[in-house]
Amino acid sequence: MRTRFAPSPTGPLHLGHAYSALLAEDMARAAGGVFLLRIEDIDSTRSRPHWEAQIYDDLHWLGLDWDAPPMRQSDRLPAYEAALDALWARELIYPCHCSRRDILAAASAPQEGTEPAYGPDGLVYPGTCRGLRAPGYGATPRPRGEALRLDMARALAQIGADPWFEETGAGPMGQTGRIALSRGQLLRQVGDVVLSRRDFPGSYHLSVVLDDAAQAITHVVRGRDLFEATAIHVVLQRVMGLETPVYHHHELIRDAQGKRLAKRDDARAIAAYREAGATPEDLRRMVGLAR
Ligand code: GLU
Repeated sequence: MRTRFAPSPTGPLHLGHAYSALLAEDMARAAGGVFLLRIEDIDSTRSRPHWEAQIYDDLHWLGLDWDAPPMRQSDRLPAYEAALDALWARELIYPCHCSRRDILAAASAPQEGTEPAYGPDGLVYPGTCRGLRAPGYGATPRPRGEALRLDMARALAQIGADPWFEETGAGPMGQTGRIALSRGQLLRQVGDVVLSRRDFPGSYHLSVVLDDAAQAITHVVRGRDLFEATAIHVVLQRVMGLETPVYHHHELIRDAQGKRLAKRDDARAIAAYREAGATPEDLRRMVGLAR
C-alpha cells in the first residue's frame, strides 16, 4: 500500500488536514506500506514558500514521516507538458478562449429550458470552442499560453468499457464499493474540463493524476469534497493508460456549527493548537484517531 498527503501551500494546515494526513499515514503503516508527501504548488498566485515550510513543520510536529523526499508539482512541468503533447496529438484536448462570463452566458442561453449544470469544476462547459479546429489539428504544434480543455465525448469514445473505481471510504451520499461512472453523467455533469491553464501547463486534475501515477500511489486517501472530482481522474487515467488507484474518501472535520473547516479558519490551524499548548496526541484525539 502506498498512500500520500497532497496539501497546497496556500495557507496554514488545519485540523481537517491533520486528519487526512494522519489517516493516510496510519493506513500505510498498518499495511506495512509507504507514505508519501506531495506539495501541490501549481497555483503560483496563491502558493507561498513560508506555507510550504510550515507544512513540513506541522507534519513533523504531528509525528508524521514520509518515506521519500516530497514531490513538488512546480518541479513536474516537463511531465505535464509531455502528457499534454500526447493528448493534443490524439486530439483529445482543444484550445478554449472563453472567459468565465462567456461560459455563463452560453450555458444560461435558454435552449431546452434547462438550468446550467454545475459539476466538480463549476459550470459545465457548454462546448463553444469544441470542434473549431479542423480534423488533423493534432499534427500541428500544441498552442502555449492558452487554456486547453478535454474533449470528454471523444475521450469516452476511446476508453472502451465504462470507467469505474473502488471506494473503500464513502462518498457524500455514502457511496462505497465499486462505483460505476455513467457516460451520460460524465457528459452532462462534468463535461470538457480544463487540463491546461492559460498561465500554467497543467491543471489540478491533470497534475493529480500524473503525480499519483508517478508516485505509484495505490490508495488515494482524501476528503469527501473531492469525491466528484474522482470521476474526472478515473477518465484521465483510462485515457492515458494509467492504473486507477483505490480511493478512500473520508468525512470532513467540521466545526461546532457543523460547517466545513476552511483554510482561512486560522483558529483551527494546527499551529494555533500547538501554540495553545496542545500535544500531537490531543490532535489525534480531536480527529478521532487516538492511538
Ligand atoms: N491539493 C489538494 C488540497 O489541498 C488535495 C488534492 C488531493 O488530495 O487529491 O485540497
